[in-house]
This record gives sequence, structure tokens and C-alpha cells, in this order.
Amino acid sequence: MPHSPKAPAGRSYLAIPGPSVMPESVLNAMHRPAPNIYDGELPEMMPALVADLRRVARTEGHVAIYIANGHGVWEAALSNVISPGEKVLVLATGFFGHGWAGMAEGLGAEAQVLDFGKSATVDPARVAETLKADRAHEIKAVLAVHVDTSSSVRNDIAAVRAAMDAAGHPALLMADCIASLGCDVFEMDGWGVDVMVTGSQKGLMVPPGMGFVFFNDKAAAVRRAMPRVSNYWDWTPRAEAQQFSHYWNGTAPTHHVYGLRAALDMIHAEGIEAIWARHAMLARAIWAACETWAAGGALQLNIQDPAHRSHAVTSLHLPAPQATALREWTERELGLTLGIGLGMVDVNDPAWHGFFRLGHMGHVNGHMILGLLGGIEAGLKALDIPHGAGGLSAASEVIAQG
Ligand SMILES: *Cc1c(COP(=O)(O)O)cnc(C)c1O
Repeated sequence: MPHSPKAPAGRSYLAIPGPSVMPESVLNAMHRPAPNIYDGELPEMMPALVADLRRVARTEGHVAIYIANGHGVWEAALSNVISPGEKVLVLATGFFGHGWAGMAEGLGAEAQVLDFGKSATVDPARVAETLKADRAHEIKAVLAVHVDTSSSVRNDIAAVRAAMDAAGHPALLMADCIASLGCDVFEMDGWGVDVMVTGSQKGLMVPPGMGFVFFNDKAAAVRRAMPRVSNYWDWTPRAEAQQFSHYWNGTAPTHHVYGLRAALDMIHAEGIEAIWARHAMLARAIWAACETWAAGGALQLNIQDPAHRSHAVTSLHLPAPQATALREWTERELGLTLGIGLGMVDVNDPAWHGFFRLGHMGHVNGHMILGLLGGIEAGLKALDIPHGAGGLSAASEVIAQG
């Protein structure tokens, strides 16, 4: 692997909230000559792959797979159930909620945005109230981001469903689980989610380039009633594929399929509940360190209530420009890359240099998280950024308790 002359020796660590760290088994599975797409191993892998994806999403429903990033599956999902002129209700708790709303508007839909700010969760009471006021049932879908990766807020999707049911509203519930699937507890069927979108490059530990749209029979019925759907985005042939090419509407992302197979093998070997517990424990270690630093200094966690924090990404604030200085220091001195702030303020605003994020999704364990936190603590010291003492020790206690 080419080694940047600027990077310090040793293995570097990309701790940004996607793309996430890729396991060796995923990389190795992809390192092969071009496989045949008409016959043999690759086409034969698909039925089990689809079944294993459903297990991760906790659904008996359908899945359509796309050669696309998260933005692609936002559009794919909307294209199957929303026609120009129709209305969606978007529950925004950060940059990505607004992004999905913009995608809907680009497709000619009317997006009504309920904005809960950048450091609070969706308020189900406001959702119920808004839906009750929609007596004509013009809102065709409610769009909710499970974990908004910019703010690191984790929304209660089951509570959104309960609010919809309390309002007696027939809209579809569509969830963005791009940052949460394979990290945070998510129950598609159990929580009454009709459509769920996710991507390959976060909790699923595969390079960017593959996206997934899960949908249930209720959403499939809405799709059937659509006057027209883009041939490429249409989920029906992909979900009902009888031939390998039908899954992809053309050539498959061959190497991604092998990578995904290896990742799903890892996920099912560990068990999804164990994966959720691992992410929760490592997140608690990160919070313990950050809260200790915060108590004696200027660092702030964006989400105050631990019950509302993501287990896969943490959004933080330091007085500008110290967040950027810290990121630059850990990258230059340690080979540790932290995430930039996203969507909190405009990138051209000097205050932008006061935000940063930690990605802790997918292929992460205790020694990586302790290395991440130790690197940040060293940076805080090196740069004379005031902080409470003992963050790393607080984190190691959480990890010691398991
Ligand atoms: C990463 C992310 C996206 C966008 O995915 P891309 O692959 O960058 O297009 C959308 N929503 C959430 C919650 C994300 O974390």
C-alpha cells in the first residue's frame, strides 16, 4: 500500500463517520480477478445475500440493491412511492434530514419540514399534531433519519410510528438508517417502518458504492399504484429478481458483492445483538472521556442526553479554531484522522473550525477506541487546549466493566 511520506509510521486510523474502517476479510474477499456475471459462484450467492441483509434489517420484507451511495437510495426510495406534486413530511434533526427533504423537492414533491434543531430529537407530539391537522391525508410519507450523522442525534423511530398511529394517519414511514444499521438497535418490522434506506460504507463495513432499500407489502402496494416510476430506480424487478442481472438493472458491482458477503459473514458470526452491545459499550467509553474533558474545559458534546446519542458517531465542539487544529495535529503526529464538523455552521464561517466528529461504526473494538481517545487527549495536551484531566482513564473504566 502506498505510504504517504507525511504520515507517521505505523498503521493509520480513519475515525470519520463513513466510510468506516474496512475489515481485512472484506478487503481480501474483493481482491480477485473479474468474476463471471452470467454463471457460477457470484449469481448463486444472491439468495443467501438477500436473506442475510433482511436479518440485519430485522425484516421479513423486500430489499432492492442499487449501485449507489446514500444519496442514491434516498432518491431510489422516494422514486418508488412519491409522484411530483405529492407531499412528504420531513422530520429534521440535522444536515441529513434537510438533505433528504431537498432530494424530495428535486423530484417535484412538496416537502413540509418539521425542524427540531441540531441538538434535539424528533418530538413525537409535534409529529402527531401535524399529522392530525392533515385531515385530507395529503402527506403521503413521513421521512425520518434514525441517526443524523451531522448532529449525532439518535431519534426514536418507534415513537414516530406511535405518533402516526395515534393520529390515525395512513402515510408511509420511511427511515434513513445509513449511519445506524449494524451499529444501533433497529427493528424494521417491530417498529412499523415501511421503507428503510441504508448504504454499504458505514455499519456494513464495505466500501461506498452499494445502497439498499428495504420495503414492506404496504409500501409495495403504494408503488403499484404509482402512475410511473423511473425504470432504473424501480425496486420491483430488483426485489423480485429471477436472474442475476435483474438485481442490478445491468452489470453487478461484482467486487462489492464479494465484500458484502464477507461483511455479512462477520456480522452474523458475532450476532447483531452482540454488535449493538459492542457499539453501546464503546460509545459509553467515548462519552465518559468526552464528559471528563468537558468538565474542566471547553469541549462540548453536541447531544447532552446520553439516551439520545448515536452509538456510531459523536459530534463535538471546541472553541474555533481548535477543533481543526486538533484534527490536523492527530492526523499529522499520530496518523489518526478525525471527522470534520458537518452542517452545524456554513463551511465558510470561521466558527466551522470549532466542530468535529468521531466515527465509531462497524469494525471497531476497545483498543481502537482507546487509541482514538488517547490520541485526542494527547492532542488536547500538545495544543494547550483546556480540558478536564482523566478522560482516558474514565474511558478505560467503562471498557474494563464491559
Ligand atoms: C452518510 C449518510 C448519508 C449520505 O450517504 P452518502 O453515501 O454520502 O450519499 C445520508 N444519511 C445519513 C444519515 C448518513 O449518515
